Amino acid sequence: MLVSELMLQQTQAARVAERFDGFLDRFPTVEALAGADEAEVLALWSGLGYYRRARLLHAAARAIVHEHGGRFPESAEALRKLPGLGRYTAGAVASLSFGARTPAVDANVTRVMLRLEGRELTSSAPEAVALSWSRAAALHTTAPRSAPTPALLNEALIEFGAAVCTPRAPGCLGVLDHGKGCPLTEHCRAFAAGTQARIPKPKAAPARKPMYFSSVLVRDKLGRLAVTRRPRSGLWAGLHEAPTIERPDRPATLAEIRRGLGIPKGRGTLHRLDTFEAETSHRACRFEVFVAALPARPPASWEFLASASIAGLGLSTPQRRILLELARTSGK
Ligand code: SF4
Repeated sequence: MLVSELMLQQTQAARVAERFDGFLDRFPTVEALAGADEAEVLALWSGLGYYRRARLLHAAARAIVHEHGGRFPESAEALRKLPGLGRYTAGAVASLSFGARTPAVDANVTRVMLRLEGRELTSSAPEAVALSWSRAAALHTTAPRSAPTPALLNEALIEFGAAVCTPRAPGCLGVLDHGKGCPLTEHCRAFAAGTQARIPKPKAAPARKPMYFSSVLVRDKLGRLAVTRRPRSGLWAGLHEAPTIERPDRPATLAEIRRGLGIPKGRGTLHRLDTFEAETSHRACRFEVFVAALPARPPASWEFLASASIAGLGLSTPQRRILLELARTSGK
């Protein structure tokens, strides 16, 4: 439950489906996950992006084992104290796994609540957050005994937002399969005012800071590729990558790459293979990829691995492209 909730945050279900079974096969219990090496957790998360979630899930498993004797806390309040569990995830786990009468408000539920109240706010506005959570909590506390379980109530609200009160074309007047419109039109202020399309208000697009990466493909005499590991904090923390120089203001010059990575001087020892762009939530990244000759003394932080081994490492999407796809075209 916790694994699926964290994997599904900001990641498409189809992509999660590719990784979910393998992750649970390797870590079938919270003890197995808590006892694993972080590099292995990141490797099995590879391709899902937002690797911070994997590190937090790992930390949460360790907290459950070391601080709670291997038993999950059951209330939303206690779950929120675990690393990586925000208000929504704690509410979802508490209600779905433990039957707690507590709300789980995601973007779908927020949209429904704002439209019902006719409030033209962005979803993340503090007022919107407070209103959505208090309305959803009230549904739980005022629900009659005959009402469905807290989990079903939460799932129904989320599903209602995803299937009926959708972001762009809400089904107020009838796009449902059964031909009827939304059952809440009489209670919906946005419907009465015709403001559904304006609620929630769009957020300003995030300003992404540029970052320039120069990655080199270096092979040893056995044809294995050099890989190194990123720092434990910051962008793509702890993942593996080709030896890389990064700069915030401009791409590194060839001289800087040679100096920084110890690439030997001379004709043909450093040539450009490709350039491409990639975005993260906060960065606009430009990658330059080079093929380089083996330094006389490769840095101790480099490891030389065959492609099959590299495929099993935790790699960001750009580095997967560099180390697995571009490396294949670069020859030996
Ligand atoms: S009437 Fe339309 S806007 Fe209001 S809750 Fe129903 S689908 Fe959403």
